Amino acid sequence: MIPRRKTRQLNVGGVPIGGDAPIIVQSMTNTDTRDVAATIAQVNALQGAGSEVVRLAVPDRDAATALGEIVARTSVPLVADIHFDYRLALASLDAGVAMLRINPGNIGKRERVEKVVEACRAKGVPIRIGINAGSLEKRLLEKYGGATAVAMVESALDHVQILAEMDFHDVKVSLKASDVPRTIEANRLFAEQTDIPLHLGITEAGTLQSGSVRSAVGLGIMLFAGIGDTIRVSLTGDPLPEVRVGWDVLKSLGLRDKGITITSCPNCGRLEQNIEDVIEEIEAEFGQSDATIHLAVMGCSVNGPGEAREADLGVIAAPNGFLLYKHGEFWKKVKRTEILTSLREALAETAG
Ligand code: SF4
Repeated sequence: MIPRRKTRQLNVGGVPIGGDAPIIVQSMTNTDTRDVAATIAQVNALQGAGSEVVRLAVPDRDAATALGEIVARTSVPLVADIHFDYRLALASLDAGVAMLRINPGNIGKRERVEKVVEACRAKGVPIRIGINAGSLEKRLLEKYGGATAVAMVESALDHVQILAEMDFHDVKVSLKASDVPRTIEANRLFAEQTDIPLHLGITEAGTLQSGSVRSAVGLGIMLFAGIGDTIRVSLTGDPLPEVRVGWDVLKSLGLRDKGITITSCPNCGRLEQNIEDVIEEIEAEFGQSDATIHLAVMGCSVNGPGEAREADLGVIAAPNGFLLYKHGEFWKKVKRTEILTSLREALAETAG
């Protein structure tokens, strides 16, 4: 197990974040928050895909008003993303959000910041401070000659300090740049200096293919160093794949486990039977299963038994059929058409 950085723990609508809590997968809606029906549908879909916290943009009063109904009709903790306007923050808190994303240094007059902080304190709602390399303060850009990692960290610490002066410590920080090395550097520097939980993400990450790779590399390096309490993979378009990629990142490092994990061989000239369609069928049948299970699907007996022994269930292509393994041991040989039925049976046993 990867040793994790020790952070203070927050409670986001009943979901513990930081400390010894598991790393949480987050995502963000891309619907118009004022469209209550569409937003509720997407929040629920994201939760169904495995998003444990969902963020929504709150750009104006109507969006803040819509939040009341959205909070009432969903069950996953919601984060209101607000820029500058403290009244939107207060309205979102009234609506019942579980967290605010707002930078106190951008709110303006101290009394406004105090109002937001007092409301958060009263409701037990933490604040996420989000630093983006693309919108750093001019003063810091001049001081450091650009949006360097050090400048990003200083900006974050400045915002944290404003809240600390009001004795408010229920904070999480994110430091995001569009390039991976700078994001890693900023998070490493910040992690060395505080025990504040970190939300990881690579902003402007890109399309499904390039964004997944960039996120996996960036998040993977930080997570492997023990840094990160929540993660979001940002991809252009439909947010549901973000959640799946986020889970895959955590699963690949052994940091979380959820659903079916399939290990399959890359295929080569020794392949005994086509296994691509077997994998597709297994994913279609068990992809949404709640059972945490590791399945190996292998093309021949060269590496097949070894992988199958390490998995909960194994399917190995053989001449004239498939060999099934259960809990590391050979179980039986079946025909192609019997694979799914047998796996169903084995999964039912595991669940029972
Ligand atoms: Fe090739 Fe067999 Fe390895 Fe698959 S398991 S890559 S078919 S040697």
